[in-house]
Amino acid sequence: MARVDDCLFCKIVAKEIPATVVRETDTTLAFRDINPQAPTHVLVIPKAHHPTAAALADEDPGLAADVLCEARNVAADEGIEDAGYRVVFNTGPGAGQTVFHVHAHVLGGRDLRWPPG
Ligand code: C5P
Repeated sequence: MARVDDCLFCKIVAKEIPATVVRETDTTLAFRDINPQAPTHVLVIPKAHHPTAAALADEDPGLAADVLCEARNVAADEGIEDAGYRVVFNTGPGAGQTVFHVHAHVLGGRDLRWPPG
């Protein structure tokens, strides 16, 4: 499995850095964001390292589907499906991406305004 040694989220996958894991599959991990922006704020990542959503789509579209399905399963587990929730991939520094191991933010549990800032 592709791993990058200085990647924070690869270290979370390897359990070298702690995280509050809420779901795990063979290919994905979901854990609570350490700086939550909503009552539910969970990150879903592929275990394999891909830097951005665009790279993941190019390199392994099946794994991109796994991440999307897990985002949906997190929403179900968190009970935020009926009220609505948001799945966000910040892609690139200009969009606010700070960790370059692709992650889906799953946000819900409060009113979500549009457009985002
Ligand atoms: O989209 P972006 O790259 O900015 O998101 C990175 C997210 O990773 C942030 O929301 C940050 O709070 C979260 N994070 C985390 N655990 C860490 C480091 C960062 O949940 N150890």
